[in-house]
Amino acid sequence: MEELKLPILAIERLRMLTDGEGVTTLVCSMGCPLRCRLCINPYSWDGSKPVEYLSVDELYERVKIDNLYFLSTKGGLTFGGGEPLLHSAFHAAFMEKYQSTGWTFNLESSLQAPFENIERVIPYISFYAIDVKDMDPVRYKQYTGGDFGIFFDNLMKLKERVDERKIVLKVPKIPRLHKGDEQKESEEKLRKLGFSNVALFDYVDPKDRKKLTENALQNREKLFTD
Ligand code: SF4
Repeated sequence: MEELKLPILAIERLRMLTDGEGVTTLVCSMGCPLRCRLCINPYSWDGSKPVEYLSVDELYERVKIDNLYFLSTKGGLTFGGGEPLLHSAFHAAFMEKYQSTGWTFNLESSLQAPFENIERVIPYISFYAIDVKDMDPVRYKQYTGGDFGIFFDNLMKLKERVDERKIVLKVPKIPRLHKGDEQKESEEKLRKLGFSNVALFDYVDPKDRKKLTENALQNREKLFTD
């Protein structure tokens, strides 16, 4: 069988209490099925960045430098993206092999993948940070270009399988898309569905933070024209 390799977008060390407990390293992988109009990581899908591939053991070699921090703070790795669930076979293989380290494993995801990809990683994940975008199917489509039904079905299936206290739902207030109470409406819908950890935050237009590529700029213009 061909060796599993993860296309790496970025590896960020020494994050504190941002996802789950303790000190974590964020491992971002390439690829995303969505095209959020104000995408924070367009390099994950617009082909502008050279890609480095790491095997399970090569990733371990890269992140083990923080082993003592992880163990002393109950931290570990967070898998993000892009959409990390596109590579869940890799992540499951990594966690299976290295669960004996005692590290915790977290997932940051928009749940845009077949549910079998999610099922694969459930046995190993301690904490889920779910990027909700918007609970209105029309606005969701307008903003992400993706199918709200896939997100919603996966979210409800995840809730059936996992203690919901392990799930944090991140609900952004998105510039230009949200002009009124849309963020609050999404929060209320999620609470009615039985989710207790709903985190509201103001999304900052990435253009205000970094230079964007031509592809990303064209993609964001669709927020004004669609
Ligand atoms: S989910 Fe949206 S913001 Fe995140 S990488 Fe994909 S397109 Fe960009």
